[in-house]
Amino acid sequence: MKIHEYQAKQILRKYNLNVPKGIVIEKAEESDGAWDALGSAVVVVKAQIHAGGRGKGGGVKLAKSKAETLEHAKAILGMNLVTHQTGPEGKKVFKVLIEEGTDIAKEYYIGITLDRAQGKPVMMVSTEGGMEIETVAKNTPEKIIKETIEPTLGLQRWQAARLAYALGLSGDEVKQTVKMLTGLWQVYNGEDCSLIEINPLVKTASGEIKALDCKINFDDNAAYRHPDHTELRDLTEEDPLEVEASEHNLNYVRLDGNVGCMVNGAGLAMATMDIIKYAGAEPANFLDVGGGANVETVTNGFKLLLSDPNVKAIFVNIFGGIVRCDRIANGIIEAAKLVDIHVPVVVRLEGTNAKEGRELLAQSGLTLTVAESFLDGAKKVAELANESKR
Ligand code: GDP
Ligand code: MN
Repeated sequence: MKIHEYQAKQILRKYNLNVPKGIVIEKAEESDGAWDALGSAVVVVKAQIHAGGRGKGGGVKLAKSKAETLEHAKAILGMNLVTHQTGPEGKKVFKVLIEEGTDIAKEYYIGITLDRAQGKPVMMVSTEGGMEIETVAKNTPEKIIKETIEPTLGLQRWQAARLAYALGLSGDEVKQTVKMLTGLWQVYNGEDCSLIEINPLVKTASGEIKALDCKINFDDNAAYRHPDHTELRDLTEEDPLEVEASEHNLNYVRLDGNVGCMVNGAGLAMATMDIIKYAGAEPANFLDVGGGANVETVTNGFKLLLSDPNVKAIFVNIFGGIVRCDRIANGIIEAAKLVDIHVPVVVRLEGTNAKEGRELLAQSGLTLTVAESFLDGAKKVAELANESKR
């Protein structure tokens, strides 16, 4: 789960880390009050969306007066912000953060994420703050300094010190940076994050170390341990179909192809996406209906796939193990009564009660294409989906 910058900074404050004072508003009229409350000669007006690169896209503006603050708040609220992370369609801005301005002497980068190759968290720092870290990693990888964290030990003091010195800092700046790095590790571990990025971390003109931007993603597998995170979720930032899927406990990820997939089991779902590509089409989604699929899950799955206008054909690929194929077939028949299936459907049933399942479908009067095998099904659905292009 992703959260907004202002929420991430609230968490940093809870861990006693240095972040600028700020106020979130949803209406431009509230900017006067924010200016007065901050009492700063310069403020920064920052669009709150779940994507980075806002500065370059025009979503971060400095203001030197109450009037200018209002002007920026008006311009940014409601704007469609396009950044390299939003895609060309952009994201609409519903909230802005108004922060006291910071006199920046130097910008740095800090990141913590999981190093999947090592199976351990890694902390990274760079003197190239404020830049897109992907570009730094590509062109000058030596400018990213890393420390692998032993999860059972946590970030060691010497590791934090090594990273702080690697940034070219000295004296009290090192002390402040060690505190920041140690605190960020505590946030990462304590809040079950999958990513924390501070870009930029800054040294101010007066030698203060501060987190000017903060991005936090939580590990959804640990959500049950953090009931307080639920209220941080902003549904307006998520794909509406994915939100609906999560309400029905369906494991669904939207993609941009033309073949809707309904599969049981994550492994088979991945294999199905591969074979659809192999057959010359593109999957429109990942959908794992799970081991306990029933009429309700199949109906909800169909509804979801059919409400995606990109879906030109549907491939139902079920391997009956715990779930019986006749139950899935009944699910498809019931779903067809409840939703208007307006695209061709190819069904491949294999495993427990596959024969009974196929018979039910054959007798149902539905116009479905029954596949002989996994590959046959993929070829048929790819052809049907691509036909609609012509
Ligand atoms: P991002 O573009 O989405 O990553 O948004 P950031 O919060 O990182 O802001 C973009 C840039 O705006 C930063 O890299 C800073 O250079 C600049 N910026 C943000 N806050 C301040 C501030 O208080 N003072 C000054 N001078 N620049 C700021
Ligand atoms: Mn940033």
